[in-house]
Amino acid sequence: MSDVYLRFVNTPFGKTAAQSLGLPSPLPLKRWKRGDQPFVEGNVLVGAAAGGKAVSHLGQTLGASPAKVFHASNLTTLTDSAKVGNKASPLALDADIEERFAALVFDATGMKTTEDLRAVYDFFHPTIKKLAPHGRVLVIGQEPSSCRAPAKAAAHQALEGFVRSVAKEVGKRGATANLLWQANGAEKALDSSVRFFLSARSAYVSGQVARVGKTAEVMPADPARPLSGKVALVTGASRGIGASIAETLTRDGATVIGLDIPQAMEELQKVTDALGGKALGCDITDPNAPTQIADFIKQHFDGVDLVIHNAGITRDKTLGNMPAHFWDMTIAVNLTAEEHIDEALMKQDLLKENGRIVCISSISGIAGNFGQTNYSAAKSGVIGYVEAMAKQVKNGVTINAVAPGFIETQMTADMPFTIREAGRRMNSLSQGGLPVDVAEAIAWYCNPASNGVNGNVVRVCGQSLIGK
Ligand code: NAD
Repeated sequence: MSDVYLRFVNTPFGKTAAQSLGLPSPLPLKRWKRGDQPFVEGNVLVGAAAGGKAVSHLGQTLGASPAKVFHASNLTTLTDSAKVGNKASPLALDADIEERFAALVFDATGMKTTEDLRAVYDFFHPTIKKLAPHGRVLVIGQEPSSCRAPAKAAAHQALEGFVRSVAKEVGKRGATANLLWQANGAEKALDSSVRFFLSARSAYVSGQVARVGKTAEVMPADPARPLSGKVALVTGASRGIGASIAETLTRDGATVIGLDIPQAMEELQKVTDALGGKALGCDITDPNAPTQIADFIKQHFDGVDLVIHNAGITRDKTLGNMPAHFWDMTIAVNLTAEEHIDEALMKQDLLKENGRIVCISSISGIAGNFGQTNYSAAKSGVIGYVEAMAKQVKNGVTINAVAPGFIETQMTADMPFTIREAGRRMNSLSQGGLPVDVAEAIAWYCNPASNGVNGNVVRVCGQSLIGK
C-alpha cells in the first residue's frame, strides 16, 4: 500500500530523474497534524467582486486564525464596508507582490453579469504564481439555480469551469482549488466550509463544488472538539477508511459505535477499544440488521447523532460474466442496506435533532468503470438517494455523500499493478489519497456548523481525471 514512486521522486536523485524523463513529480501532501494546529497559517489574500456579501464573514472566520490577512485594495470592486475585518492590510495588486500566499480567497457572490467575471481574472492573474506549495484557492459564488437572471446564472456557473481548471494548474505543487456555491443570504453558514477548504484537512479534495444553504448560524462550543457529546455509528469500521472515520470522529469528540461483519469482530474490537467506543458485529444485509442496530443503540445510548454508511464491497466481473449473486450482494451492501438502516432509525426516533447521515459513493458511481456495472450502479444509486433524502430530512438533519477516488487501502492494494499505478497518478495531485482524507471530509459534514451543507456529493479524489 506504500507509494514507492512518490517517495522516490522526492529524493534528490529521483527528482532529477523524473524531471529529465518528463515524469510527474508529486509533492507529498501536508495533512492535518494532531493538536491545536490553526486551520490556516501564513499569508491569506482576500478579494471580492463589487457587492460581495461573503467577504465580511470571511473576515470573521479568518480573524480566528493566526494568518496574516491582506485584502486586494485596488480591485475597484472591494468596498470599504466589505473589507475583511480589522486585521486585514491592503495589498495593491498592480504593484510587485513580494508575499507568498497560503491561500487566495475570492468572494464572487456580487457578480451580476458575465462581464463581472473580469474581476476574477483581475484578482487571480497577478497572484496565482504567488500561491505557496500546498496552498489553497477558494472561490465563493452564488448557487446558479438560485439566480433568476440568465446572465447572472451564467457568470456563477462559469466559476465551476474556472476553479476546475485552476485546480489542474496548481495541483503539481500540492495545492488545491475549490468552489463554494452559497444560497442567497447563506453567508453566515460558510464558516465550517471555509475552514475545511483552507485547511490541511482537505489535502486530497480539489476541483470540487460544494453547496451551502441558508441556515441559522451554529458554532460548536469547543471548535477543537466540535463533535463533543455526539454518538456516531460507523459501518465497516474494522479497517481501511471506516477505521479512519472512527478515529477522526473520536478525535473531534464523538463516541463511536463501530459496526462490521461478525467475522471481523476481533479487528473491530481492537479499533473501538483503542477509541473508547463500542463494537457491534452485524451483517448489514441481514434482514434483522436494522432492528439489531436500533436495539444496540437503545441499549447503550438515547440515540445517534451521526450515521456513516461506510461498509462497502466490490464484486467485479464484466456484465456478461457476472453471476447474479455478485450483482445482488453489491447492491445490497453498498445501497439497499443504508436505506433500511436509516428508515429504522428514523421510524424509532433514534436519529437525533441536527443529526448527520453520510454515505460513501465513489468516482466509479460518477464515471462508471470497466467490470463494475454492479458497483457503479450501487454507488450512483447512493447519489440519487442522498439527493432525494436531502429534500425530505427534518429537524436539522443533513445528508451528504463523499465520492472517493483512489484511496490507499486493502481494496486498492488488491488491484493489479498497472491499474493501481494508473489510479494513483491520474489525478491533479499525481498520488493516491489516504483513508484519513475521506474521514476529514466526513468530519466536515458532521460538524454542527455545517448545518447548511446538505445534499452534496464531494469527491475526495485529488481531482481524478476520471468523471467530471
Ligand atoms: P475495505 O474493504 O477495506 O473495508 C470495507 C469494510 O466494510 C470491511 O471492514 C468489511 O468487513 C465491511 N463490510 C463489508 N460488507 C459488510 C456487511 N455486509 N456488513 C457489515 N460490514 C461490511 O474498503 P475501504 O477501501 O475501506 O472502503 C470503504 C468504503 O469506501 C466502501 O464503501 C468503498 O466502496 C468506498 N470506496 C473506497 C475506495 C478506495 O479507493 N479504497 C474508493 C471509492 C469508494
